[in-house]
Amino acid sequence: MSAQQVLELIKEKNIEFVDFRFIDLSGRAHHITVPASEVEAETFENGVAFDGSSISGFRGIEESDMVMMPDTESVYVDPFTAHSTLIVVCNIHTPDGQRYDRDPRSIAHKAEEYLQKSGVGSAAFFAPESEFFIFDDVRYESSMNASSYFVDSEEAAWNTNRKEEGGNSGFKVGVKGGYVPVSPIDAQQDIRSEMVRQLQESGLRVERHHHEVATAGQAEINFRFDTLTKTADNLMKYKYIVHNVARQFGKTATFMPKPLFGDNGSGMHVHQSIFNEGEPLFYEKGGYANLSQMALHYIGGILHHAPALIAITNPSTNSFKRLVPGYEAPVNLVYSKGNRSAAVRIPVAAVTPKGCRIEFRTPDSTANPYLAFSAMLMAGLDGIKRKIDPSALGFGPFDTNIYELSEDQKKEIRSVPGSLDEALDALEADHDFLTEGGVFSKDFIENYVSFKRAEAKAVAIRVHPHEFSLYYDC
Ligand code: GLN
Ligand code: MG
Ligand code: MG
Ligand code: MG
Repeated sequence: MSAQQVLELIKEKNIEFVDFRFIDLSGRAHHITVPASEVEAETFENGVAFDGSSISGFRGIEESDMVMMPDTESVYVDPFTAHSTLIVVCNIHTPDGQRYDRDPRSIAHKAEEYLQKSGVGSAAFFAPESEFFIFDDVRYESSMNASSYFVDSEEAAWNTNRKEEGGNSGFKVGVKGGYVPVSPIDAQQDIRSEMVRQLQESGLRVERHHHEVATAGQAEINFRFDTLTKTADNLMKYKYIVHNVARQFGKTATFMPKPLFGDNGSGMHVHQSIFNEGEPLFYEKGGYANLSQMALHYIGGILHHAPALIAITNPSTNSFKRLVPGYEAPVNLVYSKGNRSAAVRIPVAAVTPKGCRIEFRTPDSTANPYLAFSAMLMAGLDGIKRKIDPSALGFGPFDTNIYELSEDQKKEIRSVPGSLDEALDALEADHDFLTEGGVFSKDFIENYVSFKRAEAKAVAIRVHPHEFSLYYDC
């Protein structure tokens, strides 16, 4: 859509406000709203100024002036405002007109250009499965309640964390018992359907929705794959709509990876593939899981760089509370077809050559999608460039339940980092694959690591409720 077409849309839909948005380092959107009567062709040429020093991880106070430059492809009508409002996602520029190299969208665009320049293919496609919980709107009482840290058994975790609506209906969902039951056990069908309706109206092609494995309230909505930046934009839209529809129902939705101790967490498995001018490059009939050599090398790149990559795909202290054995969240750096205990799964059911793809199951939705998709693509492309054979490096394929292997067998298998700090150590040691072609700058990596170290430290220095049960009576 051109700027002129956006201006016409504003008139046609009687838009009263235009909401200019940008994305920060941690993947949160920020906005400045301009009355539609003030928006003209020049707004799209000159952009909208904002204070970059007030956004953590961006600029210092002495060089704070930044500009949001509208991406006219990204517009959609805000479903939640009382006054009709058009949302426009923006790229961030410096006052001298350069793209800001800490802007996550700038990195996403550079990653896509890098793919094209590399000659590997013309487009990479991504499809995230971003799981979330819908809780009563009392998160501090129900899920952050200190008592939830004291429980040992899963059953107790469930009882402590679960808040029945309107008393005990008799239709309980046990720990890890929530996968696709019908109502009245699934009490959130209507909320998810309304989320889907809003997503569709906002331009997303939604494929399905369902209750997820954890006890009452875990959900997943799947939308159709697209290219890297578009999928990241779609994910931002998805989270915005999920959060706000939950609010309309008097609930709260969270994408936090592990809100409940003792039950499944929420992941963001990311399906990915590369095409060249409409031709799928990951498919080759007869290969392992019908994968081409290129796809295997892409997997090799992902698994080889996984410890560093995870600092970007799982960038919260809470991420590592999800990545523990027994909850369908991958702990093992291996690949396999169909196996949900592997970090890389190759879906084999109902897959056509065009649908042939790999699924990296480690990420979660605390990831900034622009950075996470870019980093995964860069790891995969490095694997292709260096012909990294995942089997030669001991990454599988493993078609057994890895959680159940003997201790000796398990010793051979590498694990994901155990904490955010460990992942950041790995990123400090291994990031040339990201800075290749100038996609991520060195400045970006250094700034990102110190930004995230501060987060890890803020958590580490706080007294944890579980410390009372361990140490109080010493
Ligand atoms: N919730 C699981 C995770 O943390 C995935 C469960 C599923 O999609 N089957 O990744
Ligand atoms: Mg799914
Ligand atoms: Mg799922
Ligand atoms: Mg999945």
